[in-house]
Formats: sequence, structure tokens, C-alpha cells
Amino acid sequence: MRYLITGGAGFIGSHVCDALLADGHAVYVLDDESTGSRSNLQHLFSNRELRFIAGSIADDAVLSRLVGTVHQVIHLAAAVGVKYILENPLQSILTNVVGTEKVLQACKAFEKPLFLASTSEVYGLQTHAPLRESDYSVIGATSVSRWSYACSKALDEFMALAFHHQGAFPVTIARFFNTVGPRQSPAYGMVMPRLVDQALHNEPMTVYGDGSQTRTFTHVKDCVAAVMGLISHPEAAGEVYNVGGTEEVSILNLAKRVKMITGSRSEIRLIPYADVYNHNFEDMPRRVPDISKLEQAVHFTPKYRLDEIIADVVTDRQRWLKDNES
Ligand code: UDP
Repeated sequence: MRYLITGGAGFIGSHVCDALLADGHAVYVLDDESTGSRSNLQHLFSNRELRFIAGSIADDAVLSRLVGTVHQVIHLAAAVGVKYILENPLQSILTNVVGTEKVLQACKAFEKPLFLASTSEVYGLQTHAPLRESDYSVIGATSVSRWSYACSKALDEFMALAFHHQGAFPVTIARFFNTVGPRQSPAYGMVMPRLVDQALHNEPMTVYGDGSQTRTFTHVKDCVAAVMGLISHPEAAGEVYNVGGTEEVSILNLAKRVKMITGSRSEIRLIPYADVYNHNFEDMPRRVPDISKLEQAVHFTPKYRLDEIIADVVTDRQRWLKDNES
């Protein structure tokens, strides 16, 4: 099969490329390298089944040419990372809403099935656990720009499901919960690579708020296994699936585990939220997925425990720092 991966040079996208090429498929990657980088695909460039197209999902002509050529589209191109979104609020909304609408229109024109990557962010301030796909979104005030990300991805889901229900083409949606692992950059604010880099440099490890907020972390390889399962499961069309881990950890305890695994001399420093972003920032106190729907559909269970995930990130960041800091 031939696949188009929008955002295929990003962190998750590059791992999806690895998996599809390893299974003998052909892959077209469309990426504007706004947050991804072709260096994430460097190890694959000798594979003739991979084509990298430097370009944007905003470009209708490129999109139509590519969507017309492939059998299925995996839409991962999106604004990512709380830091990036707060620094680029308007562009983030446009990328997520206008960009996704263009991808959807192209899929409609050529009747191509679509896998849409969404995010646990759409649950917003829901605090109960675990979160089920049918739970309500609890979104904060429009003056707090973080929530624009949740709203824009929720709108993507609404649009995609509307096309699906009109019979235009089949759509499957996955909500990723804090996916981490090799090739994730700390540049856009994600906690795992940031804490690991700080620990490796013996610099203060920045834990925002009082560190009692919790998350579950998913190894990117588990995330990709879920994507591969869902794209080859026709019954998943028209459905939304949580994709995440099950081991809930507070960010303070995460910092302690990173410190222990790296043997770092860093102090763990609590930073008030107001000192990190601004007074308009709000954080989710808790975010834990119910993954039973995914388990039933594609027999998915996360394989990587948190300590293994941290160890993989440490190895990757050590390598990256060695190559890039001399
Ligand atoms: N966080 C932190 N220190 C950092 C970066 C993030 O304590 O240097 C916190 C952040 O406030 C959130 C959690 O770690 O509570 C996860 O943040 P991330 O941006 O990775 O993902 P989110 O779940 O917020 O989308």
C-alpha cells in the first residue's frame, strides 16, 4: 500500500514511517518542518519506498496530487507543544483547523480513508479518571489561549466525523496521551525531554506548580503499534480511540525518577505557573485514559513501563547532546 503521512518528519510521524516501511509499504511524507525535521528521517533516506516532500498542508495543489496518488492518508501535521501553541496562538489554530479542513476536502475528492491524530487535550479540565472517549470536554475561558488547542483539535474531530457520517470517506480518530520517546525535541515544552536534558546537564529540573498534577506517558513505539492496528482495522472507521499508557505519575515523582535513573546532581525546583508562561496559563491537574476501547478493537496493551520509557529517552538525549553540543 501507499500512504501519505502529513507531518511525517515529526516525532511521532517519523516512527510511523519506520513501521510502515518495515512492513513493506511505500510512504510519502509531506512536512513543512515547522516543528518536525527531515533529520528525523535521515536513517530512512536510502529506502526507495520513502518520498519526502517539503511542503505544507495549506498547499491545495500539492495536497491533491499526493492524496490522489496514495491509498490512505495519515494526518499528523498539527501545531504541537504547549510552549509552541502559547507562542504561536493564531498560526496554531489555522494549522489545526484550516489545514485539517484542506486534508479532509482532499480525502473527500479522492475518497481516500483518513487516520486523524487528535489529542487528550480535548478533554480539557476533566479531572476524573480514567477518561472515556464519550466523556465531555471541559474547556476553559477563551482568554486562556491554551484552550484554543483543545478547541481546534475538537473541531478537527467534529469535521472529520461529519465527513465520515456523510459517507464521503472513512475516518478513524486517535487521541494521543503524552506520547514520549526517542526523537522528541524539548524545544516545544514537553516535560519528558526537558527534565531529562536538565538532569543530564545537572541543571535545576523545572517542575511547574506544586508538581502534584499527573499524567500517563506512552512510549512512541506503543503509540505507533496502536496506529498500525487502527489503520488496518476497518471497523475502527467512524470511531474515536484513546491511545495512552496506564501508569499514572505526578510530575514531581516523574522528576525524581528521571533524577534517579540519570544519577543527576540536579535540584528539583518548583516553579509557579505564573513564572513559566503568564497569568493566563492553566494546567490539567490529572489526565489518565481508559484504553479499553482500543484494547478491544486491536488487542492493544502498552508494553513499555515508565522506567523503560525514561531510560530510552535518556539514551536518545545523550546521543543527541553528544552530536549537537561539543
Ligand atoms: N511541566 C513541568 N516542567 C516542564 C514542562 C512541563 O512541570 O519543564 C508540566 C506541565 O505543566 C504539565 C506536565 O508537565 O503539567 C506535562 O506537560 P507537557 O507540556 O509535556 O504536556 P501536557 O500534558 O501539558 O500537554
